[in-house]
Amino acid sequence: MIYGDMGGGGGHQKNMSDKEYQKFLQSEKWQDFRKMVYKIFGYRCWFCKKNNVRLNVHHTRYYKTTTQKLGRRLIHNSLRWFLVVCDSCHKEIHRIEKEEALEIYKATKEFKKRNYPYAKMRMPRKYAKRIVDILNA
Ligand SMILES: [Zn+2]
Ligand SMILES: [Zn+2]
Repeated sequence: MIYGDMGGGGGHQKNMSDKEYQKFLQSEKWQDFRKMVYKIFGYRCWFCKKNNVRLNVHHTRYYKTTTQKLGRRLIHNSLRWFLVVCDSCHKEIHRIEKEEALEIYKATKEFKKRNYPYAKMRMPRKYAKRIVDILNA
């Protein structure tokens, strides 16, 4: 299993400097969280379902709180705005974001509509609950 990084800082976050954001991505808290997210998603891309590919945690929304603090309550509140995607799907989502100047949520939705119309936009509630249970264990 290869863990990808967040893929491109461009437009990813609004409230931290690039330097702060890069530092945050290295933090143990984020790394642990990320590993749990991959596990819960079954080490597969949410859209194309491929495994054995490099995966990324993609934020479908960027909240100040999502990237600044990953406390339990905040994760609980924001979990449903993360998806695990492969490099190739991830690149395409961010290409749409950039080229069509769309907000990340809309770019993700557009990608889904064009390629995986029946996919859901959010992690199901039961998975979101599971990850919180792991955190509380
Ligand atoms: Zn994919
Ligand atoms: Zn992304």
